[in-house]
Amino acid sequence: MKKKNSAMKKVAETLAFFYPQVFRKYKGYFFVGALKTLIDAAAPFVSILVLPLLIDGLINGEEKTLLLLYAAVIALGGTFLKMIASVLGVTMEKYDEKFQNHFSEELSRRVMDLDFQLTEDKKALDQIEAARTGMSWYSGGVHGISQSFFGIVTDLITILGVVVLIALHAPLLFVLLAVLMLVTAVINSRSNKIEAEEYAGLSKFNRIFSYLGWEIVDFRYGKDIRLYSAQDMLVGKWEFYTDGTLKRWENKANRQLPLTLSVTAVNIIRTLTIYFYLGVRVILGKITIGIFSQMCEAGNTLNNSVGNLIWRVQDIIKKTNYAYEYIVLMRYPVAIEKGERHVADKPHTIEFKNVDFTYPNTEVQVLKNVSLTLSAGEHLSVVGLNGAGKTTFVKLLCRLYDPTAGEILLDGVNISEYDYKEYMQLFSPVFQDFKLFAFSMKENIVLGDDVEKEAVLPLVGQVGLEEKVSSMEKGLDTMLFKFYEEDGIEPSGGEQQKLAIARALYKKAPVVILDEPTAALDPVAEYDIYRQFEELVGGKTAVYISHRLSSCKFCDRIAVFSDGQVAEYGTHDELLKQGGIYAEMFAAQAQYYR
Ligand code: ADP
Repeated sequence: MKKKNSAMKKVAETLAFFYPQVFRKYKGYFFVGALKTLIDAAAPFVSILVLPLLIDGLINGEEKTLLLLYAAVIALGGTFLKMIASVLGVTMEKYDEKFQNHFSEELSRRVMDLDFQLTEDKKALDQIEAARTGMSWYSGGVHGISQSFFGIVTDLITILGVVVLIALHAPLLFVLLAVLMLVTAVINSRSNKIEAEEYAGLSKFNRIFSYLGWEIVDFRYGKDIRLYSAQDMLVGKWEFYTDGTLKRWENKANRQLPLTLSVTAVNIIRTLTIYFYLGVRVILGKITIGIFSQMCEAGNTLNNSVGNLIWRVQDIIKKTNYAYEYIVLMRYPVAIEKGERHVADKPHTIEFKNVDFTYPNTEVQVLKNVSLTLSAGEHLSVVGLNGAGKTTFVKLLCRLYDPTAGEILLDGVNISEYDYKEYMQLFSPVFQDFKLFAFSMKENIVLGDDVEKEAVLPLVGQVGLEEKVSSMEKGLDTMLFKFYEEDGIEPSGGEQQKLAIARALYKKAPVVILDEPTAALDPVAEYDIYRQFEELVGGKTAVYISHRLSSCKFCDRIAVFSDGQVAEYGTHDELLKQGGIYAEMFAAQAQYYR
């Protein structure tokens, strides 16, 4: 009972979530839906009501024109109504695409707004997949759910009409039909349960298939796939998981077969019972032959409508169960709390105070008791071996994650108290693993702002891409990559970094972060970039992460990270004098630069 309640609650909640939105945007859909419902409900009554008039009229030798009229109404009336309903159905279907687009767009927005740390959370990723598939092909989307919903209303109206008729002429028939329908309902509900169970196991497989499908065609993986002969492994994995899904489908069919056969048997029993009972009533003179045929038809209609109703109720439960995953995603709990405090428009001081950090769902503590102050306009260089925690420090600074212990303060206030979007506006980072889109160069730099190319060109010069851009026919409108543009270019690693740097500069945020952007640059280009960057950054606050210590010379202070801790902190000269890790690293690298 509790389970049923929660299923019905989900149906109600899903309808309450989607329908007001749909109603606001597409009122016509509901108007057409209501009209179609009424026509669908009325259609079977044309023949149910007129058939006894025709039959009894024939038997009693009534006037021929009247009889012909009855026959014409029976033959054409219902069909005519059904045709109108079909046209309305097609009109409703046209909305389907609109709904799908609208809700996919909302979903994409939501996915991009989810807290960053959830992008690594398996549970959140599964939820996104469940929402995507649940809202489209599993549930048929809003239109799919509506079809069940309007269908339910249609069935209820039809059932009500037929029940009144049967109660008038053959009350016992009603009881007989009710019992048999109950049996069918129980069998069908078992069958649906099996289906839901087998579907539930498919979400993981779908995620794997979409991953595999993507990797195989993504040309960026093409080199590795060919040179390391990964084809067999990828196809093998595909087959392995295909076997898994096929087994689920097979299992479903095998489990459902005996139930399908039982439904057929019940149908045979029902037909026999109806004819027997009504035949006896005619012989006893309780009803006319016309009413006999009316009751036969009413019995069939009742049976069909109740069958439809049960199926549709189960169907809407199933569909809303899938679509509900979308609602769960839309209401997905935040990973980090956000405040409302505004970020003042003034120079900022950022302070890490005894910050510890462990990545979610992992054991290893990556930052340990990090304390550090970044004053307005200060240029900080962060160095240390691979895995020391430098990038993690920057991710916490940008509030992609919250510290596990300790706090980060902006102008003396915990950063969690600030409006999240405003806080993020403070930073222009170039991450190690920055990503460019398969859009134009300009779009990659301005990311959506509608600006003139002239505003972007100076930046292109500043990062050293002027020659490249002017050598291309379409200039800044040149597309990157070949995902969907034949003439898209494939920029080198260095060029990509320069574009990413131009993007960071374009944002004009007060704190600039360069996370080892020079990895793909040669030492000369690297030196140039840093020198130019210093000029461009000017009075802004800057954080540089680099393996190459040449960049440290530009900075006011250097923090040496070692095993998640700030092991050394000071100016270049101080740290050299100190003779610790930094001095050692500098000595080791100095030979390359001599
Ligand atoms: P660095 O930038 O100094 O090379 P990182 O900050 O990238 O170091 O990494 C520090 C440690 O945190 C490494 O051991 C790394 O494996 C781990 N780490 C980095 N990112 C994640 C993540 N998203 N989830 C779990 N562990 C991570």
